[in-house]
Amino acid sequence: MSRRKLVVGNWKMNGLRAQLAEVDAIDAFAAGHSAVEVGLCVPATLIALAAERAKASFIGAQDCHMKASGAHTGCLSADMLKEAGAGWVIVGHSERRADQHESCADVAGKAVAARQAGLNVILCVGEALKTREAGEALPFVLDQIEQSLPEGAAADWLSIAYEPIWAIGTGHIPTMDQIAEMHGAIRGKLAELIGADAAAAMRVLYGGSVSGDNAAEIFALEDVDGGLVGGASLTAAKFSPVIAAAH
Ligand code: PEP
Repeated sequence: MSRRKLVVGNWKMNGLRAQLAEVDAIDAFAAGHSAVEVGLCVPATLIALAAERAKASFIGAQDCHMKASGAHTGCLSADMLKEAGAGWVIVGHSERRADQHESCADVAGKAVAARQAGLNVILCVGEALKTREAGEALPFVLDQIEQSLPEGAAADWLSIAYEPIWAIGTGHIPTMDQIAEMHGAIRGKLAELIGADAAAAMRVLYGGSVSGDNAAEIFALEDVDGGLVGGASLTAAKFSPVIAAAH
């Protein structure tokens, strides 16, 4: 099964209008690397502006609410994000699972809401360091997959991102064997849940301190279909080598 590589930047709470020049430069680089699907999940305040400029890459959001509308002060519905110009949304990022106490059921609900609004979804899973050190990373992550996977999960709108929490923003990445083992196990779990063909088509991204220095080695692993990239996606200078590694 050949899966087009997907490389997505997560700008988190970074980016003002001044950084739109980076969107332009990343988009221009993506245009020359069309073997890779490239996207940028920018702060909600930049979605409309970035979406007007991005031609060869997509613009995404970093979260959505599970309800379509209502009394949820400060939250954004999937329809709102879609109307602003987002084509994708991240759900279940570990920072939101921790900071906003989002449960797996919440994450599944957000993914369903996003799908209903016509957004593609990147669903994040990943273990904490103490879980890894206790030798429980695999069962923990596979349970997260089972509990967070939305109804109707399919490769044409959903991708998974495996992001070990201890690798996010730290510069420490798992060994290649650990990444390969986890991605293989995730695909096996997906096969159990949605069938072998659907699992074989679904992209499973790696995230956590991906950079131009390590991307080629990570992306060469059999079950790694690209990356979700935080810090190294903030500038074209840092993100371009990651895109090139996936090309
Ligand atoms: C992330 O938080 O999605 C991420 C992968 O961050 P970083 O690349 O900075 O580790």
